[in-house]
Amino acid sequence: MQAAFYIGNKEFSVSSGTVIAPESDEVRLNVGFVGICGTDMHIYHGVMDQRVAPPKIIGHELSGTVVDIGSNVKNVSVGDRVVVRPLDYCGKCPACDAGHSHICHQLKFMGIDSPGAFQQSWTIKSRTLHKLPDAVSLEHGALIEPLAVACHDVARSRLKQGEHAVIIGGGPIGQLVAQVAKSTGAHVLISEVNESRLAFAKKNGIKTVNPVSQNLNAEVQSWTQGKGADVIFEVSGVQAAIDAMTEIAAVRARICMVAIHSEKPQVDLFQFFWKELELLGARVYEGQDFEKAIDLIATKAIDVEPYISSISPLSEINSAFANMADNPQGMKALVACQNIGKPE
Ligand SMILES: [Zn+2]
Ligand SMILES: [Zn+2]
Repeated sequence: MQAAFYIGNKEFSVSSGTVIAPESDEVRLNVGFVGICGTDMHIYHGVMDQRVAPPKIIGHELSGTVVDIGSNVKNVSVGDRVVVRPLDYCGKCPACDAGHSHICHQLKFMGIDSPGAFQQSWTIKSRTLHKLPDAVSLEHGALIEPLAVACHDVARSRLKQGEHAVIIGGGPIGQLVAQVAKSTGAHVLISEVNESRLAFAKKNGIKTVNPVSQNLNAEVQSWTQGKGADVIFEVSGVQAAIDAMTEIAAVRARICMVAIHSEKPQVDLFQFFWKELELLGARVYEGQDFEKAIDLIATKAIDVEPYISSISPLSEINSAFANMADNPQGMKALVACQNIGKPE
């Protein structure tokens, strides 16, 4: 079985890995397709080496097929096609006790803190699995994890049919948030500076504004007849978006913080007082967000095909990452794990 080990300094070594027999609560998967995430790109660029501790197999956006199950596994059978919710939680802390295991005090993210999916055979806890219906291909299954992020963001925002939602930042997650928001019956606008991302959003039926060449606030006010946006998703991570999010907000608007701000931004708290705004954090996803994402693809409410910009074999993972680094505007690059010889 072949596995891609991230060894540091923008390099993977594809070599033989160990096939691990499942323990009683585990399953072994033949990994199908794995998406390259923004976090994987950060790892590739070496900024997370301390947390990742290379050499390490990374990757967490995947689909696969169950090939072996432990004696206590009840939720899946051999042959099931599945996706993985890559969260390893303790089950004992106050957050887990309160039913929020996705933000467990001891949360380990599989594929970063523990071995991940860029390999042909992966053995993991069965509680992480969600079954794919026949209507969802393994290729599209690799998009379920980022789509579940978008489903969680929209669920946290309490967005309703007929409301106006603005997404600031049109990368893969921002575009998927727009699609999920649209599927709820809301009016949706993406604010983004990159022309190819604006074109991608437009092609998928989303209204767009480029805040460099247009006045975002003026555009939002005329789009909403002077009301402002009911919901704002901050998906960009830049100060200009923090300034815009309070400016374009309607009274009692909800602002959903999706982006990771590594620096402390300046927030106009006066606007929170004046317009009675709400700020909501949204981190990863819960089980129901995965079920929702699977359903949106299975019922064709959302077509994820346009998001797949390339599919490379596992043996060419180095060039797949290098291409992503050279073309950061691309949407989703997939790595196919089963076409470089049979597993085992
Ligand atoms: Zn990801
Ligand atoms: Zn916990």
